[in-house]
Amino acid sequence: MDVRVCKRCKKMFQHVTGPDVCPKCKQKEEEMFQVVKEYLRKNPGASMNTVSQETEVPVSLIESFLRQGRLEVTADSPIRLSCETCGENILTGRFCSKCSASLMGDLSSAAKQMTRAQAPKTEEKKAEKMRFLRSDRIK
Ligand SMILES: [Zn+2]
Ligand SMILES: [Zn+2]
Repeated sequence: MDVRVCKRCKKMFQHVTGPDVCPKCKQKEEEMFQVVKEYLRKNPGASMNTVSQETEVPVSLIESFLRQGRLEVTADSPIRLSCETCGENILTGRFCSKCSASLMGDLSSAAKQMTRAQAPKTEEKKAEKMRFLRSDRIK
């Protein structure tokens, strides 16, 4: 079992999978996602600031929905994300199609290297955690 601190409300929670956000905050985010999605469906021409003001969802969260590829804006929407590599305007995700294609190549070779090195590392981590717990108790 993995206990983590929620990056939104800073409370401890049992982490299962996905980002470090507790179930409560995840649900809240899900509700906000639906609100933004619905708002954009009705107002496809709204700017990022307008959407944020009208839905009371922070811009950073709307951006992260877009970056996750969960939310998409229409081609004529003023809302634009920029490619994290070259700054090109994109509609969704983190990279433009050109950069994501070249990144995919890089990532798959990096992933191969990681799986090769991973097995002994997890054992090391476990041992480290145990040591940490023990020294914690001494204090
Ligand atoms: Zn939380
Ligand atoms: Zn790019």
